[in-house]
Amino acid sequence: MTKEGLSSGDPNSYSNPDEVAVSHLDVSLTIDFERKILIGEVNLTTEKKKDDAHLLVLDTRELKIKDISDKDTGTKLDYTIDKDDPVFGSKLTVKLPSRLGKNVIVKIEYETSPSASALQWLSPQQTAGGKHPYLFSQCQAIHCRSVIPCQDSPAVKVTYSAQIRAPEDLVVLMSAVRDGEPSLVGKGLKLHKFRQNVPIPSYLFAIAVGALASHRLSPRCQVWSEKEFVDQAAYEFAETEKMLSIAEDICGEYVWGVYDLLVLPPSFPFGGMENPCLTFVTPTVLAGDRSLADVVAHEISHSWTGNLVTNKNFEHFWLNEGFTMFVERKILARLIHPDQRKFSAFCGLKDLRDAINTRGQNDPMTCLVPDLRSVSPDDSFSVVPYEKGHTFLYYLEELAGGPEKFDPFLRAYLEKFKYKSIGTDDFKEFLYEYFAQNADLKKVDWDTWLKKPGMPPVIPDYKTSLEETCTDLCKKWVKWSETESCPFSATDLKNLSSLQVKEFLAQLLEEKPLSLEKLKTMEKIYKLNSVKNSEIRFRWLRLCIRGKWKEQIQHALDFVTEQGRMKFVRPIYRELYAWDEAREAAISSYKAHASSMMYVSAYTVGKDLHLN
Ligand SMILES: [Zn+2]
Repeated sequence: MTKEGLSSGDPNSYSNPDEVAVSHLDVSLTIDFERKILIGEVNLTTEKKKDDAHLLVLDTRELKIKDISDKDTGTKLDYTIDKDDPVFGSKLTVKLPSRLGKNVIVKIEYETSPSASALQWLSPQQTAGGKHPYLFSQCQAIHCRSVIPCQDSPAVKVTYSAQIRAPEDLVVLMSAVRDGEPSLVGKGLKLHKFRQNVPIPSYLFAIAVGALASHRLSPRCQVWSEKEFVDQAAYEFAETEKMLSIAEDICGEYVWGVYDLLVLPPSFPFGGMENPCLTFVTPTVLAGDRSLADVVAHEISHSWTGNLVTNKNFEHFWLNEGFTMFVERKILARLIHPDQRKFSAFCGLKDLRDAINTRGQNDPMTCLVPDLRSVSPDDSFSVVPYEKGHTFLYYLEELAGGPEKFDPFLRAYLEKFKYKSIGTDDFKEFLYEYFAQNADLKKVDWDTWLKKPGMPPVIPDYKTSLEETCTDLCKKWVKWSETESCPFSATDLKNLSSLQVKEFLAQLLEEKPLSLEKLKTMEKIYKLNSVKNSEIRFRWLRLCIRGKWKEQIQHALDFVTEQGRMKFVRPIYRELYAWDEAREAAISSYKAHASSMMYVSAYTVGKDLHLN
């Protein structure tokens, strides 16, 4: 079988924005919790890019299309729906009317499927409050097509307006600004209106519906969650406004108006999702000590890198994530300590090495710009675009003459490409245009950086005293023999920050598995089983599985079933699978919980466990 992309501009979208592009979406939907569907209509404002163009091509997935018409005249429009592909969905082709004049608005009446891959429906029992159902979406990378018939390619940016009818006792939030107060419309429903006036790619369309409460952090920032978590969330994210101000100082004006955070239920598959105006964030960052708030610095950075300057398709995902890591670490340096930037990069590099070892040095998905023809972006998703991308930018910054030279370039890059979707060549061209006089940048081996799998060809020196302390403690544990007296005490960790404890455990994970005796001693002294910080817990449990500590299997299974963050769930399931004695327990636990997992987690973990 030859590899084929779905369209010339985007291997993962059927759409044809070069001929007819959608510029605005107006959605009007009713949330039906009983049937687990959204039902209503979308009006797509189209723009012909070529005079003779007469076909609008959209992406859909499991949508029930009822009627398609010309909004202004009411005339029905002919359309065809191609056969369904399990990953990419089906192509919907609409024949546009040939009338002249203003742009045609295509009205599509439809409903979603209860198994829509972007939507997670929670029963009241699955929420913290236990009384009301909950709905949230995750459209990245290509799941918006399961909610709205649309040009589901990041090359296409649209403004949107929305009218959402939901049960009157629930709150509706979207990746947009609220347009007036909600009003009662009968049948126990309330109408909520929203507007997003900044053009966004489809993957940033987002909705959440539940018994939500909020706490104001600053004039433009609020945190939302089920009311059970609001105080905890308000404490954890208290520095949001400060981070946002630092980000503006680095990147330029914040154009999105409000910056709210929504703490999702535990099944949310990611650390955070940069939905504009409303970052979605996992409850696994509620560590109680603000130690995991770097996730917020990351999502804030996306307000520029990703949301304003967007990858034109997911082969260029590093332009979103590599740049975002780059900005995130610049924020952390100003917020915490100048060394924090290098220390965080040092830790990230270890995650990259780990991911590349898991996938294999020659795995094509470890290329910075992978070939995604016939590949689901969900399968390509890993830490690679984040950390290899960051490494590349750090390397370029050094060649350019350091932050004094590169920071102004970053500003200029964001200014030049804001509101656009770009590819790696656009970045490269602008870099050489900006640094035309710089000879060092001419020696960059672009082909190896972008197109070769494995670790980056150049690894910057990220060493600081912060990680030396972790390395010393790690070495001490590796060297120690159980026949000698125990040189460790609880104060070893008390002097370290949470990030350093995480790094200490991460370094141990790079060593040969610790003996069961050593692990038990470590638990006795450091009491790691009772640590709440999810990053620390994650690495500790992996060490225990590798040391074949049977009593910890249940702890590991608890950890991967009480939350659904893929970064934690996938490696733990993989490690359990690799251990004969834990494999069966891992598989049966997955099978018991798959139906309550978000689609993307269930799909990828199923693959990790060789079940599909
Ligand atoms: Zn990100």
